[in-house]
Amino acid sequence: MPKAQETVLEIDLKALKHNFEYLKSKLNNTTKFLAVAKAFAYGNDANTIAKYLEGLNVEYFAVAYTNEGVALRKAGIKTPILVLHPLSANFKAIIEHRLEPSLYSWKIFNEFISAASIENQTHYPVHIKFNTGLNRLGFNEHDVDNIISKLNDTSAIQVTSIFSHLAASEDLNEKAFTLKQVDSFKNIINNVLAKLDYKPMFHLCNTSGILNYPEAHFDMVRSGIGLYGFGNSKKENKHLKPIATLKTVISQIHTIKKGASVGYNRGFKSDSEQKIATLPIGHADGIGRQYGQGNGFVFINSKRAPIVGNVCMDMIMVNVTDIDCNEGDEVIVFGQNASAEALAETANTISYELITAISQRIKRIIL
Ligand code: PLP
Repeated sequence: MPKAQETVLEIDLKALKHNFEYLKSKLNNTTKFLAVAKAFAYGNDANTIAKYLEGLNVEYFAVAYTNEGVALRKAGIKTPILVLHPLSANFKAIIEHRLEPSLYSWKIFNEFISAASIENQTHYPVHIKFNTGLNRLGFNEHDVDNIISKLNDTSAIQVTSIFSHLAASEDLNEKAFTLKQVDSFKNIINNVLAKLDYKPMFHLCNTSGILNYPEAHFDMVRSGIGLYGFGNSKKENKHLKPIATLKTVISQIHTIKKGASVGYNRGFKSDSEQKIATLPIGHADGIGRQYGQGNGFVFINSKRAPIVGNVCMDMIMVNVTDIDCNEGDEVIVFGQNASAEALAETANTISYELITAISQRIKRIIL
């Protein structure tokens, strides 16, 4: 790989294939795989990722918002796409692009039936979301009867799947809570199967659910973070490969004297002569101010360089006093050998936030 000469996010499709195959190896042959491709496929490049996974015969995609699904369709994705968080304003676009909405509330359920009827749709594929404990989106367990009787009254929609989402599948201290969610979902399944005259798919697990609750895979699983290379424990992380490497370069190196300061608000003051490198990446690129003031770090020639002072919009300054380096040298912010999780922890956050925040102005390079 040639050294980076500007800030780039390299995306390793072989690593994506590896993660997909590893997660699939945890499933029965009959369990389907839904790839979560929302938020630009967790910051990676949704069109490229989706095309590649479509080539590997992934059965479903999910996005959060309708416009993300429309973008995938415009990029030529033919695989079914579940829109997790549609709003009434999006229904026309959903139908036009043959996207499949999650119906999570009575308002959305009723309004989508009307929209589908107005567009002369019959058996339009929809997914019904139940709340089993996350208390975010979804119907409650006791709504099943009313939902089924409404479904019996309309031919505008057909339920492709029934699903719910786990609140704490990564946290084994919360196993009792998760198992309650699984039980509640099983009650919903039994109730639906007893009353609906066809069998939809049922799905519950995200990546940590796949890894920690094999008994709860049901008909399909939904994985995001695992595909992009992060598991739910150090042990699982060994089996997964981060697909993205964020690289930048040293723009300039200053040697500053004792008592000099660096950056806005004089955020760093040196107590001795120091060598400071300026890098072309800042909070507008997704490296927030929380990473400044010595919290976050990057790697230069395999050595850790702490971010000093305040993060600027388009730059950070790092201390390279003890590192043999020059202007133009490559810098690794995170990647396969520089954990995004460890960097995220320095800002009291999680890999999900760090990787999805990487700005769209950074060039993606597909390997
Ligand atoms: N399912 C739903 C409903 C989600 O909102 C998400 C992501 O937040 C996922 C699945 C994927 O979760 P993960 O990235 O932990 O695999």
